[in-house]
Amino acid sequence: MKYIGAHVSASGGVENAIKNAREIGATAFALFTKNQRQWLAAPLTGAQIDNFRRLMAESGYSAHQILPHDSYLINLGHPDEEGLQKSRESFFEEMHRCELLGLDRLNFHPGSHLNRISTEGSLDRIAESINIALERTQGVTAVIENTAGQGSNLGFDFEHLAYIIDRVEDKSRVGVCIDTCHSFAAGYDLRTKEACDKTFEEFERIVGFDYLRGMHLNDAMRPLGSHVDRHSPLGEGEIGWECFRYIMQDSRFDNIPLILETPNEELWPEEIAKLKAFAGV
Ligand SMILES: [Zn+2]
Ligand SMILES: [Zn+2]
Repeated sequence: MKYIGAHVSASGGVENAIKNAREIGATAFALFTKNQRQWLAAPLTGAQIDNFRRLMAESGYSAHQILPHDSYLINLGHPDEEGLQKSRESFFEEMHRCELLGLDRLNFHPGSHLNRISTEGSLDRIAESINIALERTQGVTAVIENTAGQGSNLGFDFEHLAYIIDRVEDKSRVGVCIDTCHSFAAGYDLRTKEACDKTFEEFERIVGFDYLRGMHLNDAMRPLGSHVDRHSPLGEGEIGWECFRYIMQDSRFDNIPLILETPNEELWPEEIAKLKAFAGV
């Protein structure tokens, strides 16, 4: 089954994300469970948790159709002890919020070395950060997103994802989310069927589809290998529709949330309908 949706707003309360997803015909969705630009958030109340769980059941969404995203402030590979501790505590809070809401995965950007430590040094910290979070929570998988490699952000190479996974103790609770725009910006071509075959063969060889827990479907505003993270509506960027048709018709992308993070929200119902048509659902 293909589950298709978008990163919807949870403004006014987490349960609003479910309503917003339903309204655009989404069978999957992503959300922030707290303000993504702030460190602190009020704890979820019992009523919020109950509402979210009830609405989820009523709307027919299961945990494997939902891909929460953590705060942009968190850097699990931070070079400084203080920044690292703050990020680890905040990441634990976010994992815990997912746990309370009955969600089974949390999507995050691996981290940045900030040009102060080596790539390996930062990747080691990220793996250790994941180990700490997994130890303190239950039932939530840490889902590492590949990045465009802008600035000193790590995770643009499939090898980075494999390096981290290799060092995570509980392999059953670590996964990855592949963002098509980020992959393309990092130099993985997706413009034709042959290019998609090659990129996903490489992904299978280096990371493995067993670890795939979600996809972000975005076209890319900038050319192949630009390392610039700028999303475009599907078909309006450098990647083009073929890649999205390919993903919709390939069973390796079944049963995971397939999430639009495209810039024009007005287009989401149309983009979702088109993807559903490709998938025949
Ligand atoms: Zn992301
Ligand atoms: Zn993304």
